[in-house]
Amino acid sequence: MKLIILDRDGVINQDSKDYIKSADEWRAIPGSPEAIARLTHNGYRIVVASNQAGLARGKLTIEALNTIHHKMHDQISRYGGVIEAVFFCPHGPDDGCGCRKPEPGLYNEIARRLHVNLQGVISIGDKLSDVEAARAAGASPVLVKTGYGQSIVDNNEQPDDVPVYDDLAAAVDDLISLD
Ligand SMILES: [Zn+2]
Repeated sequence: MKLIILDRDGVINQDSKDYIKSADEWRAIPGSPEAIARLTHNGYRIVVASNQAGLARGKLTIEALNTIHHKMHDQISRYGGVIEAVFFCPHGPDDGCGCRKPEPGLYNEIARRLHVNLQGVISIGDKLSDVEAARAAGASPVLVKTGYGQSIVDNNEQPDDVPVYDDLAAAVDDLISLD
């Protein structure tokens, strides 16, 4: 079974320092919806793992988050892409939860709910916290330069053994070419 885990903000959609708080603020990174559709068409199951501290900070309601995800699913489905589930951490950095990346809780939940082992499962993110969470859960991290990724590369902070791609579309093209 082919499974892939995607971060949301900075990978699928443009990130915002003030959180994505409404469907209007959610804007796909060019090429990402099509890339997700290519994954679907190549037999991948796709799930999202996302920190959403805006919930804990009162910047974002669960209703707004649902509306945002409705827009995301809609834009991706136009190309035939399917995101099977969105796993999110609703906590803030001071809550001490086990699900906020770099903690692996969201990944462990994905493994439990989907009855899968994450060994070798590709996880695409734009932050080192995505890399750490993926590793802690046994998945294989990949970085993209969209979102915060470019600053990681500019500061030469990317781990040597983590592949780096310009964006989700480039990562997916490479992944599919290896299938
Ligand atoms: Zn959490």
